[in-house]
Amino acid sequence: MTLAFDPSSLTLPRGHFIGGRHVEGPEEIAVTAPSSGLALRAVPRADAEMVDRAVMSARAALDQSGWGRVAPRERLRALSRWADLIEAEAAVLARLEAVCSSRPVAEVAAGDVPVTAEQIRFFAEFADKECDDLVPTSEDHLGMISSEPYGVIGAITPWNYPISMAGWKLGPALAAGNAVVLKPSEMTPYSALYLAELSVRAGIPEGLVNIVLGDGPVTGAALVGHPGIGKVSFTGSTRAGGQIMENIAQSGIKPITLELGGKSPMVVFADADPELAAACLDRGITPNAGQFCVAGSRIIVAREIADELAARLVERFARHSPAATWEETPGFSPIISRGQLARIDGIVAASVAKGGEILCGGAEFDREGSFYRPTLIGGVDALNPAVTEEIFGPVATFQTFDSEDEAMALASHPSYGLCAGLFTRDIGRALRLSRRVEAGTVWINRYGRSRDHILPTGGWKASGLGKDLGREAYHANRRRKSVLIDL
Ligand code: NAD
Repeated sequence: MTLAFDPSSLTLPRGHFIGGRHVEGPEEIAVTAPSSGLALRAVPRADAEMVDRAVMSARAALDQSGWGRVAPRERLRALSRWADLIEAEAAVLARLEAVCSSRPVAEVAAGDVPVTAEQIRFFAEFADKECDDLVPTSEDHLGMISSEPYGVIGAITPWNYPISMAGWKLGPALAAGNAVVLKPSEMTPYSALYLAELSVRAGIPEGLVNIVLGDGPVTGAALVGHPGIGKVSFTGSTRAGGQIMENIAQSGIKPITLELGGKSPMVVFADADPELAAACLDRGITPNAGQFCVAGSRIIVAREIADELAARLVERFARHSPAATWEETPGFSPIISRGQLARIDGIVAASVAKGGEILCGGAEFDREGSFYRPTLIGGVDALNPAVTEEIFGPVATFQTFDSEDEAMALASHPSYGLCAGLFTRDIGRALRLSRRVEAGTVWINRYGRSRDHILPTGGWKASGLGKDLGREAYHANRRRKSVLIDL
């Protein structure tokens, strides 16, 4: 079956999804296809009243269905059916995703969708396998530590991998017995609506998965500040994460998980396999046109191999050719918006003004839509804006080092600590430095996540608070309670 499609003839879902049905409102937020600039169906902006309706619907669904109290195996069964349906509907989901995002339809259908289904199954398995603990106490007491769902989780996600990000939030929250009100990015609203529809078709009680559409300042802020939300789970920029913390401080303290921005280093030592390193560096910055949080946007290379590696990388970057996300064969992705493209270009220009030297790229592709060339910038120091700022585009800086200590000093970013890549054949050095580098994830002789969902992901420092994926994400959706019985 062909996945290619005509973006102007796709049927797009309308309205929010609350209590198991679509709820329409004035369509006031414009949505644009970044591959061509085509205007798509605008979406409503949920105000505080609409957000309240969604939270109340989630609360009522929890109370009526007993989702958090039923035999955990029931949750496992319902979530497994949902995962199966998601896989079966991969083509529909992929088109709803590709039409408004930077994700190529074939990659979503073969990657993002099945991986999301796998993750939902992974978390569903926890539902009936995690138990409460009996704890040692004095002879006259029995102590128990139980865990319970929070109730309604408020989830907010970014535009860069919309289905995956929704799956990261919904899977563990539902498996752990919660209901969810999710606000996807206003730029990529459609696929989350269909995921929610599929949850109802899978037999997950209506009202457990609610989607409110809207922007951050109105809808996101109302969701975060709603007193009926037991916990907030956010993925997005460090800037918005800070605003959410302020909101919570003002509106009533509640727990929070934050997956934020990054400026991750990829460090290549002289003994690294040059072909493997070049392939990984390319994979570290070009997928989704560099619009991913763990992008390896700072390349740091031993001086003796720097020229050779730079040449290999320039040659690899030149191979990428852009394609609209709805074409059958995936190509280099568009930048999500003209505004974001202008921001990327502005940082590149500011970098050059401060001494940066463009080794390749540094300009738009000459075609319709918003496409920026893979760009490598040399000649930068630690204060250059291309080194300090999260660009969220296909732009990497290239720095050199003469000693291990210098490599580690360059790798350290003053505020971010999301990921790092280390390339060396010396396993002792790799393990030693993996402990030294300040990052929530370290990849050795590879760059990028695997399908091993057991590995938690989440940043250190200003890159985040708490973890998604792994056991930790399941437990992050339950709260612990100590019970002591006098015998
Ligand atoms: P963004 O912060 O602008 O928006 C993310 C989401 O937050 C959107 O749904 C937006 O509407 C909402 N939002 C914005 N301001 C808000 C506020 N004050 N209150 C409540 N909600 C608010 O980010 P983006 O541009 O959509 O995504 C790119 C960013 O996301 C990058 O910084 C990237 O590193 C980060 N990201 C991090 C991870 C991770 O796992 N660490 C994964 C993906 C993306």
